[in-house]
Amino acid sequence: MNNNVEEVKARLNIVDIVSEYVRLTKAGANWKGLCPFHHEKSPSFMVNEDKQIFHCFGCAKGGDVFTFVQEMESLEFREVLKMLADKAGVQLEQYKSEDTGNKKRILAALELATKFYETQLWKGMGKDKIMQYLHERGLTDKSIQKFRLGYAPNGWDNIIKFLTGRGFTIQEIAQTGLLVEKTADSNQNTANSNKNFYDRFRDRIMFPISDNMGNVIGYSARVAPGGDESQAKYVNTPETVVYHKSKVLYGLNHAKQDIKNKNYVLLVEGNMDVIASSQAGLGNVVAVSGTALTPDQILMLKRYTDNIAMLFDMDSAGQQAAEKSANLCFEKEMNVKVVALSDGKDAADVVQKDPSLLIKSVKESTSAMEYFFKNILGKYDSKSAEGKNNIAKDILEHVAHIENKIEKSSWIKKIAHELDVEENVINSVLKTVESSVVSSVKKQDQAEDQPAAFQKRADVIRDCLLGVIMSDGNIWKETFDKEKESEWVKNDSLISFVLESGPAANFSFDGLMLKIDDERAIEKLRKIYFDTKYRFTAEEITEQSQDDLRKMAGSYKAQYVKELQKERLHSIIREIEKAEQKGDKETLANLMSEFTKLSQETRD
Ligand SMILES: [Zn+2]
Repeated sequence: MNNNVEEVKARLNIVDIVSEYVRLTKAGANWKGLCPFHHEKSPSFMVNEDKQIFHCFGCAKGGDVFTFVQEMESLEFREVLKMLADKAGVQLEQYKSEDTGNKKRILAALELATKFYETQLWKGMGKDKIMQYLHERGLTDKSIQKFRLGYAPNGWDNIIKFLTGRGFTIQEIAQTGLLVEKTADSNQNTANSNKNFYDRFRDRIMFPISDNMGNVIGYSARVAPGGDESQAKYVNTPETVVYHKSKVLYGLNHAKQDIKNKNYVLLVEGNMDVIASSQAGLGNVVAVSGTALTPDQILMLKRYTDNIAMLFDMDSAGQQAAEKSANLCFEKEMNVKVVALSDGKDAADVVQKDPSLLIKSVKESTSAMEYFFKNILGKYDSKSAEGKNNIAKDILEHVAHIENKIEKSSWIKKIAHELDVEENVINSVLKTVESSVVSSVKKQDQAEDQPAAFQKRADVIRDCLLGVIMSDGNIWKETFDKEKESEWVKNDSLISFVLESGPAANFSFDGLMLKIDDERAIEKLRKIYFDTKYRFTAEEITEQSQDDLRKMAGSYKAQYVKELQKERLHSIIREIEKAEQKGDKETLANLMSEFTKLSQETRD
């Protein structure tokens, strides 16, 4: 029995798909290229056509065509499945998960809404006033089309009427974020409209926000010229099931190829800046939409490049945002430059005056650290002790975020030299600064991923065992038949999940992927699977034989069970101490006998 994942894999060639992103050349049995997941000058990224997998010797990333596309496009597993199934001409079965069906409906509604707004702009209510404004801002028809700008006319129920007329329920439309629910005391006069909701976007210029695949997932909506200026200048779609503002960058769907080609991304503040820059020939441009740059967004960008140039407004808010964003980028080891505009307040402004000025400014961008240092030096008297102290503190606030050790130490040298003080003085100031600057990224990382060193030994062995089980359907099935009721299986949720999903997944790894909704679990199991199933050397990829796998399974299981017993022993010791303190003789006796029994078992 085949499943959709296997079917898609059978019809596609990983070499073709990877070639859409990476230039591959034939090298023996493999194809080689520069790894798209880390920066390198000589190729260590390898694709094996025979086994339909890829592996990078530089950063150890690897997997199948699904892993590759998911990493490249930062999509969820099911989105990749849909995209590749389309490519392969595979009809996907309807999944039981209602979620996917619902998401599809929401995306379909948003696509129709975008068309509606476009029509309103080109032929409807926005034809004169709004078009004129966009042209005055310097946008060409081509850009307006490319970025699918639109106009939401004034009125409480335009989009409600339009979408309900196309067969969407009010609940579905509400989930797109296009509507606002009336509060109980609201007395908006909309008796003739649909009960409890009204249009969120009224008399606004619509900038659709797309995911990496180009699906519209939300909007940033600007108040129309001459519109109600008492309202917020920009209103954005709230968080919905498809729109997560911290995980989206405006323009990335258009920019990703150009970012890869030019090997840097230009980060600007607003939608208008993106369109203007793109129109000026800088296609590798994105903007954060109504938030500060987030760690998730940086990771998305890092898929395409390690180099970022920031072009923020020259006012103090813009410069503060640039500093904050730069610090986050330092933590993720990105090379950051700052573009300073000598003329005009933002990119859109400059392009309107003269597109070549923008290109010139971007060319002249300076390293962010140099830029900050120069500004800070200008703020204080570098001859006085107090001035030196302030300069050191301010610049070290940035240095504290630099993750790259070489860069960090070279900055310490430079600051010491510039201020004419000993390096160890700078280092000790840095220590105090670092203890107060607790990086948000670091905090988040630590909460989410325990460093490998802290992973319990039992968990390490469990992962090895899981890898073996998933690598071979027969071993999977044997383990399931024999062990599904065993204590050690029930003890761990990941093991019991994989074993118990076996029959439904037809004991195939691809089948299992379809049973998981949690993206982190998919990522984890995938890594375990590919790390176990294949052995990589520079010249070849070998698979473990079934015999070897069976032996490994036996040995890992024994080690795992023993490890669990040892853990139990440690906790018995703690319980014994407690029982002794309390003088609970009965519990103590039971614990002692369990302890004796277990310690004998673990010895042999
Ligand atoms: Zn790599």
